[in-house]
Amino acid sequence: MEHCILKIALDTPLDTTFDYRWVNPSSTSLDEAVDSAPDSSAMPQIGQLALVPFGRQELMGLIVGISDQTEVPVAKLKDVIEVRSQLFPLSEHWIALCHFAADYYQRPLGEVVVPALPRNLRAGKATSLERNLKKLAKLHPAQDTSPNPEPPLNPAQQEAVDAIAGAQKFAPHLLYGVTGSGKTEVYLQAAARILAQSGDAQVLILVPEINLTPQLENNLRQRFSGIQIATLHSGMAEGERLLHWLSSHLGQARIILGTRLAILASLPHLKMIVIDEEHDPSYKQQEGLRYSARDLAVWRAHQLGIPVVLGSATPSLETWQHAKVARYRKLELRERAVKDAVLPVVRVINLEHEKPKEGLTTPLINAIRKRLEKGEQSLLFLNRRGYAPVIACDACGWISNCTRCTAHLVMHKLDHKLRCHHCSFEQRIPRNCPTCGNIDLQPLGRGTQRMEEGLRLIFPEARVFRIDADSTRLKGSAEAAFDTVHRGEVDILIGTQMVAKGHDFKNLTLVGALNPDSALFSQDYRASERLFAQLMQVAGRAGRAAQKEGGNISEVLVQTRYPDHPLYHALMAHDYDRFADDLLEERQQAGMPPFIYQALLRAEAKELQTALDFLHQAVSCTEHVGITIHDPIPMTMTRVANMDRAQLLVESVSRPALQAFLKEWIAALRALKSRVKWGVEIDPVDI
Ligand code: ADP
Ligand code: ZN
Ligand code: ZN
Repeated sequence: MEHCILKIALDTPLDTTFDYRWVNPSSTSLDEAVDSAPDSSAMPQIGQLALVPFGRQELMGLIVGISDQTEVPVAKLKDVIEVRSQLFPLSEHWIALCHFAADYYQRPLGEVVVPALPRNLRAGKATSLERNLKKLAKLHPAQDTSPNPEPPLNPAQQEAVDAIAGAQKFAPHLLYGVTGSGKTEVYLQAAARILAQSGDAQVLILVPEINLTPQLENNLRQRFSGIQIATLHSGMAEGERLLHWLSSHLGQARIILGTRLAILASLPHLKMIVIDEEHDPSYKQQEGLRYSARDLAVWRAHQLGIPVVLGSATPSLETWQHAKVARYRKLELRERAVKDAVLPVVRVINLEHEKPKEGLTTPLINAIRKRLEKGEQSLLFLNRRGYAPVIACDACGWISNCTRCTAHLVMHKLDHKLRCHHCSFEQRIPRNCPTCGNIDLQPLGRGTQRMEEGLRLIFPEARVFRIDADSTRLKGSAEAAFDTVHRGEVDILIGTQMVAKGHDFKNLTLVGALNPDSALFSQDYRASERLFAQLMQVAGRAGRAAQKEGGNISEVLVQTRYPDHPLYHALMAHDYDRFADDLLEERQQAGMPPFIYQALLRAEAKELQTALDFLHQAVSCTEHVGITIHDPIPMTMTRVANMDRAQLLVESVSRPALQAFLKEWIAALRALKSRVKWGVEIDPVDI
């Protein structure tokens, strides 16, 4: 063939693929083509990358169709510049996954496929690709160490591994296990079985944040020495990312460990997917293509007919409901895996009765002291970084607000700054009140920096250590900080949700939750579900090893003004079943997800009214039978970086009906050609 039409997905805002003409460079004239049969290997294939002219730019896109016809007039039809034939084409399965994601999240296909590929693959010259492929061939897995032996499983773990690895078809599992119950061991041994079943099998393991769970990566490398492991996450340098992506795409890496973006990796021999901490909000992408990696994982497993495991101590209500109606098989690990390690005792401390000193009540101070006496570690959890969330003037009532956002400026004492956590604004802490000149400005409330200061005052002999986004800004510093804790060089650790995740601190017997109440009465109906998960997770850091002879029993102390709140009762009883069942029932009665399907139209503009006007226009621009459209409202945090934001919720009890409506609606919204910036989010999590 001398020429054909290539349908190419490009990353542009237009919801279409683009037609280009491809001319076979090896058949320059008809005579020659007759003489020498055209080189069929030079023919473009679906799944290859192609460089094409687009306006004044050159863009890299993906060939998603080949045809001999086009509706583009000949005069306008442009030629492909180059097809990247060096690269093994992306599979039909992979393209189908992207098609599904584009369709479901109502975005252009090109906006899914192109960003899913490493930047260096898209931008790099063909020669550099070849160089990388050579580099890859040299990447031999470490053969010198013999693999760590597998520990014998307990019966509940064994049952789980058998169910998962024995499935041989699409089989979604909820691995519901208390913290420290050995879920990781189930993933590892199920993975080992799957890898042993076929010589080229690949296993994908998704985690919320790789940097916070280095132990899993170490475990994998030790257990599977001799097997190539690729990692994929957003913190990687582009060169490194390309190598790992290529090794996955070419099937050399057999285990792929990654964050949410890894769900869109090319994995030609994928045989199992694991989603650890499946309830974690970080599986939801919050900009651009707002996808849920967890939901895409289940779809991908279904497409390929393979098992998928969703692991959690506090499953999302969506997953919990699927397990209830037996769409997912529930596998339970009720006990901690380490012999004699028991779940911590959870107690509440009533802030109405106990006046805190430096943010700490007497029972909590005493509990910390008992840990110091026995050489054990304490962890204090406060989900608020900085020194104080706001500073104020007593004389005139001035408070430190961000002028660009509906938010306070947070006091950061160490670098003498007031900083907005929502836009990039920062300024020096003023010496005196900007309105009345009073020099006595007061910090109100406490963040982790102020707690750290207070702890040093109360326990001058203790080694106090803080871990939060401020203390770990430099690359690698989070790992170094956690190592310090693991080496036992810390007595009291204070931190944000960063310290709540997967770490296995062997010598930690006390967890204090300092100020969790605010989430109880949040407007966001998911706040309590999230709070419970967070508290359960941070509580799970305590007592992971067997109690030492003469040591303290492990405890979790929660400082609260609402000791009788059902959430704390459930936490004290370690009863997530009950808590989740009650929440589900409430949701069902109130007609909320997962019993209804939602989408959110958001708009932002310099003036709130402009955004609201656009949303009102949106309400009336198409028919909507069987769809509920709520009133447009300003978002709770209305202003961010000088833009006012408003939103409109649409709902339906039928997912297909909602999808069909959205398709038409979005087309109609595009046709409005409004200057307002808007976007639609499917299955929103922050409302
Ligand atoms: P989870 O992921 O459920 O919180 P982990 O997988 O981190 O729990 O396991 C907690 C601890 O239990 C780890 O120290 C792990 O090595 C240990 N462990 C897991 N399974 C077993 C087992 N079958 N026998 C002994 N120890 C185990
Ligand atoms: Zn003042
Ligand atoms: Zn701001």
